[in-house]
Amino acid sequence: MKILVLNSGSSSLKFQLFELPDLTVIASGLIERIGGEYSSVRLTFCDSAGAEQVIKKNMVVPEHRPAIAIMSELLLESGAMANVQELAGIGHRVVHGGEFFHEPTLIDRAVMEAIEELVPLAPLHNPANLIGIRVAMEHAPTVPQVAVFDTAFHQSIPEHGYLYALPYTLYEQHKVRRYGFHGTSHDYVAKQAAEHLGMVLGELNIISLHLGNGASAAAIQGGQCIDTSMGLTPLEGLIMGTRSGDLDPAILFYLARETGMTIDELDDMLNKKSGLKGICGENDMRTITELAEQGNHQARLALTMFCYRLKKYIGAYIAALGGVDCIVFTGGIGENSAIVRQLSCQGLERLGIGLDVENNAFRQEGILEVQGADSPVKILVVPTDEELEIATQTLQVIQNL
Ligand code: ADP
Repeated sequence: MKILVLNSGSSSLKFQLFELPDLTVIASGLIERIGGEYSSVRLTFCDSAGAEQVIKKNMVVPEHRPAIAIMSELLLESGAMANVQELAGIGHRVVHGGEFFHEPTLIDRAVMEAIEELVPLAPLHNPANLIGIRVAMEHAPTVPQVAVFDTAFHQSIPEHGYLYALPYTLYEQHKVRRYGFHGTSHDYVAKQAAEHLGMVLGELNIISLHLGNGASAAAIQGGQCIDTSMGLTPLEGLIMGTRSGDLDPAILFYLARETGMTIDELDDMLNKKSGLKGICGENDMRTITELAEQGNHQARLALTMFCYRLKKYIGAYIAALGGVDCIVFTGGIGENSAIVRQLSCQGLERLGIGLDVENNAFRQEGILEVQGADSPVKILVVPTDEELEIATQTLQVIQNL
């Protein structure tokens, strides 16, 4: 039997097929630029002789519904899946679970209505996730479907951590509060870190740093998240590829009054034209690092600001946790950028954080320890695997049916 995981983004569909009982990956696919002039479609799978094969196509995929039909055809055509009866379950990544969902949940009509109700909080993502769920249900009506929410892991944050210092009625009437995102990744890497260290997750204080195009930090006490840097939306917190992260909210009133910028223009600026891109014109950390090495001032500034913001969050979360045992770097930047890890840990020796520059520069598959021999705090690089975590959580739900 198999588990299929669907991760529908606003213009992409990522999917992975796992074989039970060990959740071995047998096929992975990605359809990008859905709704664009041409979409790229890619499936990697193992043929019957165990050799890796790749199918690549460029085709018109106007929306998510045909994208899922294409996924289904590819899985059948490649032989990765013989028919939908082979599926023990389908796991869906759902971005926003609001306050309704604290854990992976078997999908029924009420769950779909709740996800729909949350569309205003995630207007780009929840509708795509819902289409994925609806179409998967049409294709495989007898297969149990499970929703795994990006926000669920952060539902353990206490009231004093998730509320904003705004009129309380905004929380009561409009649910304005911190929700946090990247929960599946923070949850996964924290468990991986504990396992790697041979320690009990329940006894560890972990700061998890998920650094990709979007970036967030989480303070995890005994496996429970007690704070995270993203807020009502994924705009708050760390500096990101194109998002500003934290800023003085009065900047927006000032700009609106001084320049006449509209709410939509301000929204676009903060989400798409700020962050690393705003500072140096580039949002890819590889390019920025190269430019910084060549002496480009703005690229160096962007890198320094990115790491300084990270360092401030590490400090804040050490205080929130009352001490830290392990710092975990993950995501495209966290896993690959030695310079970001080095700069964000630099000068924290008095807090017990000592990164070893040589260990840090070393590259290997899997988990890497980069702290120095005399650093009481472990510093780990842990590759994230959100699809595997969704498959694992889906399996747990269906095993309890
Ligand atoms: P997403 O949030 O879209 O899933 P990823 O987790 O793939 O993104 O991270 C994308 C980021 O990772 C980009 O800024 C990219 O430059 C960065 N990245 C990938 N590889 C490297 C590398 N070798 N060195 C530095 N940054 C890297």
